[in-house]
Amino acid sequence: MGQTVGKFYIKDFGCKINQYDSRLLSENLKNIGKSCVNSPEHADIIIINTCSVTNRSESKERSYIRKISRRYPDKEILTIGCSVRRYKGNFKFGAATSASSFIYLDNPRTRIKKFRGHSRGFITIQHGCRGNCTYCLVRQIKKPYYVKNPSEVIEEAKGFLENHKELVLCATNSAEYIKLDELILGLANMKGNFRWRFSSLNPLSLTEKNIELLSRDKRFCPHFHIPIQSANNSVLKKMNRGYDMQKVGRVIDNIKKNITGAVFAFDVIVGFPGESESCFTDTLDFIEETKPVKVHIFRFSNCKGTKAYEFQKSIRVDEFVKRERMEILRNMAEKIREKHFKDAVGAVKEVAVEKNMRGYTRDYMPIIIKGADAMDIKALEKVRITGISGRILTAVIV
Ligand code: SF4
Repeated sequence: MGQTVGKFYIKDFGCKINQYDSRLLSENLKNIGKSCVNSPEHADIIIINTCSVTNRSESKERSYIRKISRRYPDKEILTIGCSVRRYKGNFKFGAATSASSFIYLDNPRTRIKKFRGHSRGFITIQHGCRGNCTYCLVRQIKKPYYVKNPSEVIEEAKGFLENHKELVLCATNSAEYIKLDELILGLANMKGNFRWRFSSLNPLSLTEKNIELLSRDKRFCPHFHIPIQSANNSVLKKMNRGYDMQKVGRVIDNIKKNITGAVFAFDVIVGFPGESESCFTDTLDFIEETKPVKVHIFRFSNCKGTKAYEFQKSIRVDEFVKRERMEILRNMAEKIREKHFKDAVGAVKEVAVEKNMRGYTRDYMPIIIKGADAMDIKALEKVRITGISGRILTAVIV
């Protein structure tokens, strides 16, 4: 990054951890006297933080990089992040150069306190993964690997609470956050009117003890986003997820028993090599039974360099079958979501208000507030749900 470069602009793709990394990078660059601008037009260097979770996310980035290269041929364009590491530094298009390791990013000790323009602050508690799921490259590409001590996270949370009313704790794989009980206790002992949640939780980290500890803090948002990926044991085995549906079932029952108002969201991969009709039916039955507020559905993506890439040479699921299963699951999840929305009308809920009067409730329902203006975006507001407008609930302040 040239000495003459004073102003930088960061564009990030992908998960909350990538967004956090971009903020970390921005802080580190500001600490060496660079200034952050909020449009590529005014920047000397455009940094693109890439995501490689699916082939589709990569193609979106490629077209963005080409577009930016055409529009700003004289500017320095640098790609960093997961796609760059996946292709060993060779993820450059148009005028872009790439850096698979970037010193300004490799210092997780820098503290950030603010996600500008957001009421929610994302805190990365664990970065990278040592898991071996057969469809995943994160182990190879999400760097550096680190796990923050609970005391570090608590310190960072205190800083965030100067600017945010909701904290979202993010881990690449929460099962590798061994001191989760200590962290939950630490947050429960913090003073103040705020709320917090986990962005997602591996079933393996939802022990009886952790669930009991979570039940003690009413500021914890009872929204459990769990990446189960499949509800069939033979598929879970092929995925090497490290748990089976008996384990997941116990976790769900335990949460329902101990956490008032608990709701679920699940990540599911359809069309994993070897997923037969009856395997898929197990997933449908599980979704029908648990009635999640959201299902994030991914079509199995053939990722070179993974074990699953080899599997699919012999036991692949045809593309049209994948699309069909995605459609079936999406329709089922939609009906369940609509029912949750209908049941919410008339209820009073708490919202962390973001820009343009939108926000999320504690149980992660999207809300738009009507009939109010000049709202303090940092506010946690009590609202009454008045109706449904497409995929969002309408509400008024109470
Ligand atoms: S837990 Fe599995 S799917 Fe998740 S990041 Fe680690 S290896 Fe990938």
